Amino acid sequence: MIDTHAHFDDESFDSDRESCWERALREGVRALVVPAISPDRWQRTLSVAREGAVFAALGVHPQALPAVSDEAIRAALDDVPSLVRERPKRVVAIGEVGFDHTIDLERASPARQAAVFAWHAEVAVALGLPLIVHVLRAHDAALEALERVRLPRPAGVIHSYSGSAELVPRYERLGFYLSFAGAVTRRTAKRPLAAARAVSSDKLLLETDAPDQCPTGAPEGVTRCEPAMLSLIARAVATARGEDEAALRERTEQNARRLFAL
Ligand SMILES: [Zn+2]
Repeated sequence: MIDTHAHFDDESFDSDRESCWERALREGVRALVVPAISPDRWQRTLSVAREGAVFAALGVHPQALPAVSDEAIRAALDDVPSLVRERPKRVVAIGEVGFDHTIDLERASPARQAAVFAWHAEVAVALGLPLIVHVLRAHDAALEALERVRLPRPAGVIHSYSGSAELVPRYERLGFYLSFAGAVTRRTAKRPLAAARAVSSDKLLLETDAPDQCPTGAPEGVTRCEPAMLSLIARAVATARGEDEAALRERTEQNARRLFAL
């Protein structure tokens, strides 16, 4: 399997990143994609990348927007082509970036979020890289913005998909894959499971969103999510779709390899 969204550069992994990686390997996780949060942390994100196994993405997370100026974002994005060129096969996507209506909307208005997304999309198109898109309580705004920019096929992934099953075909028509995280493991998870069932089998991805979103079924007392927990997410999605777990693990890995050209 491939964990398509793990913040493996997070400080919470500093003391045991190596043993986390070994546990992930034992669970059948073959690679991770590590999305960036904000430009002042990009070097940290890049520093955890390792050939053939841990891949990075570069971008500005919507939750970082209130603290970063437009000038700083433009300047950082200008550096992305050279950062990618210096690290062939290590930077595999642009993101995360996106739409979030749960944050400080005075300093990160929906219009500003859409503008920042459009700058990221330009870089992604120029470099031929997919986008890693975060959408939280903002699906209408996201779809409107995504429909306005011209994106290649495939365009990228909507990570930790939280929208309804009805919106799945709209995202797929725009060239997006849909990725599922720990929410599918909750006993009350009706909506994310309905969405996971609605995704075409060649557009389905799995992620942990580690260290956030610790899945149900994690060892007693553990609250930090880690990539090894991808197995729990694979099992929940396979059960919801009525599919063989091994086949689903294999197919979602192929989907990730295709999208990110791994
Ligand atoms: Zn994330």
